Amino acid sequence: MKYVDEFRDGELAKTIAANIAREVCPDRSYRLMEFCGGHTHAISRYGIADLLPANVQMIHGPGCPVCVLPIGRIDQAIRLAQAHGVILCTYADTLRVPASGNLSLMRAKARGADVRMVYSTQDALKVARDNPGREVVFLAIGFETTTPPTAVAVKQAAAEGLSNFSILCNHVLTPAAMHAILAVEGLGAGNTVPLDGFVGPAHVSTVIGSKPYEPFADDYHKPVVIAGFEPLDVMQAILMLVRQVNDDRAEIENEFSRAVTREGNLKAQAIMAEVFGLRESFEWRGLGSIPFSALKLKPEYAEFDAELKFELEDVPVRDNKACECGAILRGEKRPRDCKIFGTVCTPENPIGSCMVSSEGACAAYYSYGRFKDIAMMAA
Ligand code: SF4
Repeated sequence: MKYVDEFRDGELAKTIAANIAREVCPDRSYRLMEFCGGHTHAISRYGIADLLPANVQMIHGPGCPVCVLPIGRIDQAIRLAQAHGVILCTYADTLRVPASGNLSLMRAKARGADVRMVYSTQDALKVARDNPGREVVFLAIGFETTTPPTAVAVKQAAAEGLSNFSILCNHVLTPAAMHAILAVEGLGAGNTVPLDGFVGPAHVSTVIGSKPYEPFADDYHKPVVIAGFEPLDVMQAILMLVRQVNDDRAEIENEFSRAVTREGNLKAQAIMAEVFGLRESFEWRGLGSIPFSALKLKPEYAEFDAELKFELEDVPVRDNKACECGAILRGEKRPRDCKIFGTVCTPENPIGSCMVSSEGACAAYYSYGRFKDIAMMAA
């Protein structure tokens, strides 16, 4: 298959691994953060970490949409479905994210709330059209990749006069989160992890382009290599980062040039800018409150804003004490550092959000790396 098989070629992987091994300086470390959960999944699934020298360390970032959604925002959605009697529509992974009171949207559904899984915003619009006597809320989550379809749905609802449709907006912004990680790193506060560079997101970058990453090179002297999600993409990006670090360069390079340009998808950016404005601050799981890191509907579309329509309060909620998702999302810990990883917390019974989605670090480790971890601990 074109554009898949050739990016999974084992012989080529060995060649790139050999190049990485030859080019790394043995007397220094390379701490590289893959921002995106899709890359975390690829690294675990294809055993990429096993092909890297010991001094090249991949640090998992916060780029998993359901992982960074704090409990308080899931609680809001559950309140909408239970107390306000709305039909709550959202994507599958979001249904299983643990919330307060041992609830999730899935468990709320089991208790009678009208919660429905949809594949797209168009499905949610159809539910609204089919149920004119009911309020229908789409729980919108995700980074810049999933934002344009939400914007299209809001515009369509406005054009059709679909007054029983609204969205609970939790769309977040990748560059803002990267700024937050680097700003804290610069302060040297807490347990922050020093980074030597980023593997930049694939799908997000098809929308925003490579331009928004330029300040990370200019202001923080951190190289970014945007990479596709196939194993050879990731390995090639790691090699490109190693070369930049060796040369003390900080540039934005684009390994995923088959899909990403510097300017990105201008049409998608325009529709996002038309429908959404910036929130002054937004609470991220693990990263805390980050200024201008999330989107809300512009006043022209306020009638489709479920937070205003139902006067929802945003109540912050602490994570489960046993769960290390916060530290994992900051790159400070790994799934095996969590005492309940793979025992109490499994994909069938997730205690934290990182075990829910295949993009979550804990789910990726559980699916592809837990036996190795257990063997290492026993050794
Ligand atoms: S294993 Fe479960 S409880 Fe532990 S950090 Fe991961 S999601 Fe949280």
